[in-house]
Parts: sequence; structure tokens; C-alpha cells
Amino acid sequence: MINFKLKKGVLLKSLVTFCIMAIMLGLAIFYRYILDRNEAKSRAQQEIEKEEKIFEEVETTECAYVKLYTIYGNHLNIKGYLKNEQQDIDKIKLVLVDLDFNSIEYELNIKEKEDKINFSMSDNINEGIDLEKIQEGKYFVFIQTISNSQDKEIKRLYNLKNNSDYTGNEYYTLTKNGMNNKIEIKFKEREDSKDEKKYEYMFLNVEASTLPSKVYDIVIDAGHGGKSPGAAYNGFVEKDITLEYALQLKQKLKEKGYKVKLTRDKDEYVESYGNTGRAVMPYRTKAKLVLSIHLNSSASENAEGGVEVYTPNHMNLTFAKSFADNIVKYTDGRYSVNSYAKALDGVYVRTYTQAEVDEAIEYAHELNYMPYENLSTDTPYLFMVRETGGIMTKAYIDGRNKEELNNPYRNSNIAAESYLLELGFINSKFDLNNLLQKKENYINAIVDSIINNYK
Ligand SMILES: [Zn+2]
Repeated sequence: MINFKLKKGVLLKSLVTFCIMAIMLGLAIFYRYILDRNEAKSRAQQEIEKEEKIFEEVETTECAYVKLYTIYGNHLNIKGYLKNEQQDIDKIKLVLVDLDFNSIEYELNIKEKEDKINFSMSDNINEGIDLEKIQEGKYFVFIQTISNSQDKEIKRLYNLKNNSDYTGNEYYTLTKNGMNNKIEIKFKEREDSKDEKKYEYMFLNVEASTLPSKVYDIVIDAGHGGKSPGAAYNGFVEKDITLEYALQLKQKLKEKGYKVKLTRDKDEYVESYGNTGRAVMPYRTKAKLVLSIHLNSSASENAEGGVEVYTPNHMNLTFAKSFADNIVKYTDGRYSVNSYAKALDGVYVRTYTQAEVDEAIEYAHELNYMPYENLSTDTPYLFMVRETGGIMTKAYIDGRNKEELNNPYRNSNIAAESYLLELGFINSKFDLNNLLQKKENYINAIVDSIINNYK
């Protein structure tokens, strides 16, 4: 009995202690919650105050306009204009300002017309803001004019109003150490606290993000497949060699941390369009880079040889050149002797000739559809180079296939940077030997070019 009573007393004591502790813990959690909420509130308040301060410097009576913005590969390029009402403008810059008032400046190309000043970040489609290099944060995008009057430098900041056909967009950076950033490009509206006028501005939000399952870094396209064998020589067939190379490239790039998609991983025919189409996959996967692997062939054996890297026109050719240089160096190979459409050793920029433009338009009439209005001698000729680059590469398809009159992404302003690699000539003994025996060297050459480009 006594023992039992004692036990009951201890039990009651423990219960009371437990209750007190639970209440104290509850209070502590509640207190923490209030603190966190206040902190979040004051952080948001601070951001608003910082934002106010940034916009104090910005002109409110006039603004600049975005005529077009594009993302080709990893570069955001902005083209626009502002009214030409100031005198003596020396320079125009695009300025990114973050909430800590740090700024990144880009000098713009300008072309003055009577009442307008047109500006662009670059005439090359793969230049502009390198989105891979923008740190996490919130950025306001402005145009800054710098003019000199009576030895005094005057700087003015203008908002960017969207006058393009495109609303906002999003970009995922390439996977680095398993990490990605998501970059949102937005046009937002704010009300001026003084005159209560509303105005539009451009904004970039960069934050760490996991890569959505359908988003990839790189697409590798093994040329041909199935009923399309490509070139052949001495029992060797282009579609088999390009597949072997694509599979190994994917493996090596995966080891380096990139997320890679193949247009085909076996001997099968790949459509041009449709969900798994060659030209559509880079858009659908939001890839930053697409490489098409091919082998060349000449009219007679051993007549020609060497590497040819094809890329769109209006490009900075550094990346293209590094593919050609590395392949020649790593494989003791050679640059192609082909001089047609050659831009640099091993680098080729092939556009339509006038005869080809006429022919494509004739085809369009035959098939009873409207030819693409911008088809000209400034349009890239090779299918995978042209059709994967949206409006930047004047994608339109060439109309030879009745089922494929349209590229659903031809008006896209965001697309992968495209290179078509003719690794060598299948009917050159020297090249074929190299291709069969030095596969590892070719793969390393290509992978090193990619790693160096995004470093
Ligand atoms: Zn081919």
C-alpha cells in the first residue's frame, strides 16, 4: 500500500513537471515564430525601402523600350530604343542594379536615327548578358545614358518598358556541382510614391533551384538513324559511328556533372518535329547547347578530309573554333581543306545562296503554303543549325516534306546554341582510321571545349 501511494505521488509530480515543460516549450516555439515573422516582415520592408531608393535615381517622365529580347545558349541579348531628345549622348549602357546597390554595366552598340536611338547589346546572337555568371539576387535592369555638356558628365537612368512580342521568360543555368539557378526575366509595374504614376520596368530574379525533371543542360544529336543511314564507306555507316560517339559523349558529359539528352540512343529513325523530333527536343528540354554529330563524305575516296564545325551566322565564333582546334590537336587530325562557307580554319558558316532561296520558295508554292517571309541569303542553311535557334536563326523549315510544313518553335525567342560537327570524312582512309581508333581523343576534345566555354 505504502509503496503504491509513493508511486502515485511520483507519477503526479512527473505529470506536473511534464505539463510545465510542454507549456514552456510551446511558449518558446510561439515566441520564435513571432520573432521570425517580424524578421521576415522587416526584411521585406527593408527590400521595399531599398527598392524605393534605387528608383529615386530613375527618370519618370521618359523611358527606354525593349524591342526584342532573346536568349541564345547562355546569353541574354536585348535590343531596344529611346527617344533622341537629349544632346551629346556619348555612351549608352545597360545596367543591372541589385538590392545592395551593386551594379553590372554593359556598354551598348548604338545607331542614331533622327528621332530615335536604337541600341543592342551585340550584333552576335550568342553575346550579351552571360546568364551563367549572374549571382543569386534580384536585379533591376535600366538603360543609362552618359552625356557631356560643358565638361560635365551627366548620367541618366531609364526604365525599360516591354515593347516586344514576348512577355517574361525563365532560364535554368547549366548544372554545376549538382546545383542550378533559375533566372526569371520579368516586366513588372510599380507606382511612383511621389506622382502616383505607374510605370513598367525590367527585372531579373536569380535564385537557387533544383532542375525540373524535363529540363536538360545539353542535347546530343547522333546524325541520321534507322532508314536514314547517312554516308557509307567500306562497310562503315555514318549512322552507326555517330551513335557510338553520341553515347560516349553523353557518358563523359554525365561524369562531368551535366544533364544530357540524346535525340536517339539506338538505331532508329528520328522525326524532325513532333514531341521527340530532332529539332524540337532542344526547345522542349530548355537545353543550352545542342551538338549534332555527323561524318562528311566526298565525291571520290581520299579526295578530302578533316574536321568542319558548322554554326549559324551572326555568331561569336570562339566556341566553334575551340571545337575544331581541340579535335585537330587531340587526334593529330587536320582542318578540312574545303573553302566553301569557311569562316576560320575548321569553322564554317553556311547560309542560303540566292538560287537556294528561289528553290525553297518554289517548293513552298508547289506545296501550296506561304514561304517564310524572312528567308534570304542571311538564313542558315543547315537544318539542325537553323531550326533549333528560333527567331535568332530564322527557323522556318525548308518545305521539302509535306508533313512538316511548320516548326512549332520557329518564333521562340529562347533556344539552344547549336553546332554541327562533321568530325571527318568517312571515305578518307586517314579520317576513318582516326575516327575508329581515337574515339576517346575526339570525345575528350569536345568535352574539354564545353567545359572551357562555360568556365
Ligand atoms: Zn550526316
